[in-house]
Parts: sequence; structure tokens; C-alpha cells
Amino acid sequence: MTEVAEAPVAATPEIKRISHWIGGRIVEGTSGRSGPVYNPARGVQTGAVDFATREEVDAAVEAARAAFASWRALSLSRRTELFFRIRKLVDEQRKDIAMLLTLEHGKVLSDALGEVARGLEVIEYCCGIPELLKGGFSEQASTGIDVYSIRQPLGVVAGITPFNFPAMVPMWMWAPALACGNTFVLKPSEKDPSASLYVAELLKEAGVPDGVFNVVHGDKVAVDAVLEHPGMDAVSFVGSTPIAKYVYETATRHGKRCQALGGAKNHMIVLPDADLAMAADAAVSAAYGSAGERCMAVSQVVAVGDVADRLIDEIKARIPKVKVGDGTREDSEMGPLVTREHRDRVAGYVGSAAEEGGKIVVDGRESAPEGDGFWLGASLLDDLRPGMKAYDDEIFGPVLGVTRVSTYDEAVRLVNDNPYGNGTAIFTRDGGVARQFQFDVQAGMVGINVPIPVPVAYYSFGGWKNSLFGDTHIYGPEGIEFYTRGKVVTSRWPDPATSKVDLGFPQTR
Ligand code: NAD
Repeated sequence: MTEVAEAPVAATPEIKRISHWIGGRIVEGTSGRSGPVYNPARGVQTGAVDFATREEVDAAVEAARAAFASWRALSLSRRTELFFRIRKLVDEQRKDIAMLLTLEHGKVLSDALGEVARGLEVIEYCCGIPELLKGGFSEQASTGIDVYSIRQPLGVVAGITPFNFPAMVPMWMWAPALACGNTFVLKPSEKDPSASLYVAELLKEAGVPDGVFNVVHGDKVAVDAVLEHPGMDAVSFVGSTPIAKYVYETATRHGKRCQALGGAKNHMIVLPDADLAMAADAAVSAAYGSAGERCMAVSQVVAVGDVADRLIDEIKARIPKVKVGDGTREDSEMGPLVTREHRDRVAGYVGSAAEEGGKIVVDGRESAPEGDGFWLGASLLDDLRPGMKAYDDEIFGPVLGVTRVSTYDEAVRLVNDNPYGNGTAIFTRDGGVARQFQFDVQAGMVGINVPIPVPVAYYSFGGWKNSLFGDTHIYGPEGIEFYTRGKVVTSRWPDPATSKVDLGFPQTR
């Protein structure tokens, strides 16, 4: 987690102070603690984000609680109307949101625009909330008795989000949560917190009542306050596996519904019959896009049979063409990493791979642009095996490993033995093998000749094993399920002719 600066840095004009959003307005933090926000391409601090106290989290939960009764009572048609307005505003402001992402996260503008577009898809899905909340109805379940099911909101729900998708991942949470009638408290990543405040203003402009959407910034203090708060009904989390596990255990121990999505180590299997040019394009795009800081990045290629040398040559030939540079420049394809510490940690894996018997085919430490930015070029490592740090750990940077195996079975075993199970992909022209792979593989999202199989908004997103703690995936139908609970009503209208005392257990007749 980001180190804590001495105090809120409000005095220095070039450092922007980033505060909370509670009850429909900016609320400055009082803790005296804040975290630095950087422009990763320049390597300079540009902001200081207030870290919330428990009392500030209380205030956000209270604002959300106070707004809940009237928000859940708002008719579905009014809520839909609001969602269409939110959709329009986010669509109109997508460039501004993307620029904020680039300035604080570092990803290139085209990638940031893609992030907003994928978040917008979830908002669009939520515009259909009347259809999504439709229940079931059984007329004449028993004589004169009808039975129907409805889904109702949970109350106040929280989202705790990671640095790598500062706009999209919060949208995966607040859009379905609000559409279902819940009110929301967002604790965004402290590394790139500005997009959430921008979105808060947009929601207000769209007409979302004050208190329905709140933002508290901070570190473990704020997260623990959210997880333990008696007024909080559910928590959605996306981030690294150790914190996901901690969040899931703590939230559920405090009686909350929780879905906690964790880290990943996504394997891409390439069979000898694959279209190699297509596989190499896909591997380069999915390994180095967003500088590898994606939970669905391909970080490990598994080359089956004799495909490895040819595939490595193809990937190697593409790497020098990846334009690494400031994300605000139109021609940049890969930006810097989010912080200096993270860049150094990622670079460390390149060195450790060589020490542990792997081979450095392309060394990104040598191709990083000059300057103070948190730069690292694209690296390609060969001969990685389980037991090596670069194979076992989620690197979360522009480092692609290759493992050589002889058979399809060995390749699938590698994926299934891995503790993570987020995404995986197979590249082949053989439909039968692809179908067998989808049957065999233990991961939540599978790509067939598709390297980053992020489901569209009307399916749900989520991994297996250490990539997800909880039962429901996020957004799509499972998102609606997560943010609501079911109620079944059995109803009969008075009919004196059939009314009598009957102490037996109710049976259908
Ligand atoms: P992170 O786990 O460090 O932080 C995520 C959130 O948890 C942040 O809001 C942070 O403030 C908070 N947090 C951090 N340390 C904490 C602690 N000790 N106690 C309580 N809260 C704490 O993750 P990150 O570095 O921001 O994001 C990258 C990670 O997120 C990667 O592991 C990536 O795979 C994962 N991720 C997963 C998905 C997915 O859908 N599975 C999507 C995006 C990112």
C-alpha cells in the first residue's frame, strides 16, 4: 500500500488536495494523514489524498443510510431515467475521465478510453434494471393462492477498489448496486483517487440524490472501518489476493455479504497448430497492454510441442515496435508503471528469473525510456517453471514468461495446479481440443483464440480459486443477485366461503 505522507499537503499549489465526497459534497479529511498521488510519466507527486478516520467513514455510512429509504422507494422508471442520464454524462465526459486516469495511473489514453467504455457497458446494462429485477409469479399455486418472488436491495453497500482500473472497477460495483436500490460508499485506490470524485460530481449532475453515492479515501484504517461498520450490509472488493482474503474473512465475520476478487496469473496455451502470427499479436497485446497492470493480462505463455522457438521469435520481433511513452501522447502504446516502488519490484523479477535458471530473451530494464517517470520496457523470459519467483508470483508488470511443455495435458495441468484461476486462453485451430479445454480448465474466464476474455456486461466477471473469495461474480446477472436479496410472497384474498381454522401444516390443495 502507498506510504503515508507526513500530513495533508494543502499548502503547495502544484500539489492538489484530494478529499472525501460525503452527502453530495466535498468533505476535507481531518486525520492529518494523506497519501501521495503521482504523475507516473513524470515521476513527480501531483496530489495528496486525505486518509479517512473511522469517524469520516461513519459519516459516509450515515449519509448513505439516511438516503436509503427514499432511494429504494424511487420507482423503477425514475431510476431508469436517472441511469440514462448517468450514461449520457459519462459518455460525454469519457475523454476527461480518461485523461484523469492517464495522469494518475499512467496508462495510455487509448487504453484509458477503453477502460471507460467497458465501465459504460455496465452502466448501459443497468439502464435495463426494470427487466433485470423482474420476479416470478405462479398463479393458483394452491386454490385461491398466488405465489410470487421479488428481489429487494440490501441497504448500504461498499466498494473497495484497486489502482489498475480507477473508473471501470468502481462502475462494475456502484452501477448495479445503485440500480438495485442500494446506497453506496466507495473506497477507491489511494494511488489514483481523482476519477471517483469526478464521477461523484457527474452522478450529482445527473440527479442522483445526495448521500446515495459517497467516496471515502484512505488506507487500512478506512477499509477496516468499512468492514466492521454495523451499518454496512455488503462489501465488494477487487484487489490483490492477500487483501481479498482478508477483506472476505473480516467482512463475513462481521455479518456482511461479501464478494472479493483477487489477483491472477493468466496462462495462454499455444498449440502447434495455432495461427502463430495471431498468437504472437495476442500475447504481446495482452502481456504489455496497460504495462501488464491488468488482472486479465497474459503473464505466462505455455508453448506446447515444437511451437516455442517459432513463437518466441515472433513475439521478440514485435517487442521493439511497442512504443513506450507518456500516456498523454497520441502515439504511445505503453505507459509507465504506477509507482517507483512497483516498477522496481517488477524489474526485480527479470533479474530473479535469470538467477533461478530462466533465460532473459528481451530485457525491459535496458529499453526503458530516459527520465524520472516510472519506466520499464517490455521483458520476455524463457524457460520459466513452477518454483521460480517469476513463474509463481503475480508480477503485474510488462513481463511475459514462457514455459515449454510437450503435451496438451501437461499444459492444462500447469493451469489447473496454479493457485489462481482468473482467466486463461488457448490458441489452436482445433475446435475439438478447444472444447475439451473449456471442459477441463479450472478458471472463471476462458478465451478461445481470445487472450483477455473479459465477459461482456450481460455475463458476469470473476475467477476461481485464489482469484475470488465469495460465491458471486461481479456485474451482469450475478451482480444483480449480489446486490439484492430474494423474498417470496404467498398471497390469498379474503373469501369467507373457504376460510376455516386448520392447525395442520400448510399444504397445497
Ligand atoms: P491492493 O490489494 O493493494 O489494493 C486494493 C484495495 O485494498 C485498495 O483500495 C487499497 O487501499 C486496499 N488495501 C491495500 N492494502 C490493504 C490492507 N493491508 N488492508 C486493507 N485494505 C488494503 O491491490 P492493488 O495493488 O491496488 O491492485 C492490483 C491487484 O488487484 C492485483 O493483484 C490485481 O490482479 C488485482 N485485480 C484483480 C481484479 C479481478 O477482477 N480479479 C481486477 C483488477 C485488479
